[in-house]
Amino acid sequence: MKMRVPITKPLFDEADLESLRGPIESGWVVQGPKVKEFEQKFSTFTGAADAIACTSCTTGLHLALAALGVGPGDEVIVPSFTWVASANVAAHCGATPVLCDIDMDTYNVDPVEIERRITPKTKAIIPVHLFGLAADMDAVMDIAEAHQLYVVEDAACGMGSKLNDVHVGNFGDFGAFSFHPRKAVTTGEGGMVLAREPDHYKLVRTLRDHGSTKSDLARHHGKAAFLLSQFDHLGYNYRMTDIQGALGSSQMDKAAYVIGRRQAVASRYDELLPEIPWLKPPHVPANAEHSYQSYVCLFAPEEATMENLERLNGLRNDILMIAEELGVSTRQGTHAVHGLGWYRNTFGYRPEDLPKSWMAEHLTMTLPLYPQMTDVEQDYVIEVLQTAYARATK
Ligand SMILES: *Cc1c(COP(=O)(O)O)cnc(C)c1O
Repeated sequence: MKMRVPITKPLFDEADLESLRGPIESGWVVQGPKVKEFEQKFSTFTGAADAIACTSCTTGLHLALAALGVGPGDEVIVPSFTWVASANVAAHCGATPVLCDIDMDTYNVDPVEIERRITPKTKAIIPVHLFGLAADMDAVMDIAEAHQLYVVEDAACGMGSKLNDVHVGNFGDFGAFSFHPRKAVTTGEGGMVLAREPDHYKLVRTLRDHGSTKSDLARHHGKAAFLLSQFDHLGYNYRMTDIQGALGSSQMDKAAYVIGRRQAVASRYDELLPEIPWLKPPHVPANAEHSYQSYVCLFAPEEATMENLERLNGLRNDILMIAEELGVSTRQGTHAVHGLGWYRNTFGYRPEDLPKSWMAEHLTMTLPLYPQMTDVEQDYVIEVLQTAYARATK
């Protein structure tokens, strides 16, 4: 029997469709009451004091760095094995992204590697909670405190993930989340920022809206709506629309269900994967709750080295190609940013500079995972992986 199992599928229902009627019928479609409602549900969910919606996690990270005054002459330490945006935002501020290596068990930043890259110019660290697993924030915060550095958490994949029972995004100066369709809750594109300092919330709200001291909604409902507000900062237009806010708000009503389902599917993979000795399932430290934005395994038929990496990578890609032909979509985990053209050409990185990130790019495999996934579909993924391996190694 042949089926099609996609890498992911957003969970939309009638309530989501219905939520979109509100802004369209009222005619208020820019950032307004629905965005506010989404922000309130998000801050409740994460246990934060407040939350600020914006257009993406990328723009959320940019707002955070801008609020911290990160700029030319500064260095920002970022793990190389992440989505390129985590590093790009530092460059967009005029700072230098300094890439560092990861821990191969968690795929998250290695705190020892952070310390090795600290210089007098270092201003901030961007730890990434990759694939929904919290980075080692105890160690990261200790380093930040010892060296007086800011911390901006890239929590794009982090919704529902916790460390020591604290939701990610609440450890650093800022945390930024994504609502891209590959993440647990989606508004098409969209992001959310958490901050630790009350003043930082105020500043980011202003920066999100061109530097305006007053939101459009407050101005429209105020006395002198005909006068524009004051602009005391150089801001951006990173506002989320109320159409997205309405969708985000109704998505939040099922966030706990979606994350619970993702965790259930992941734990069933954990049970099935011992049948596949060449695939190493994700490792979860005891103090972490993984939210499984992605279920990422390591292709490990033998121990990888920089010497056999090209051959193993070719074999992994053959397997993923055969799986695709048999209807099962997979993906490489993510990329090693230091191997991407702009980073190589601008900073002169070589693959071997950050060997673990390089290996992770070449050997990781993301398996299909979505809340609606059935046991039959999941069993088919396992069967196809076994068939694909047998054919690729024949
Ligand atoms: C998805 C993702 C981003 C980007 O999020 P957008 O909302 O698409 O800007 C950044 N970092 C990581 C680790 C991601 O997975």
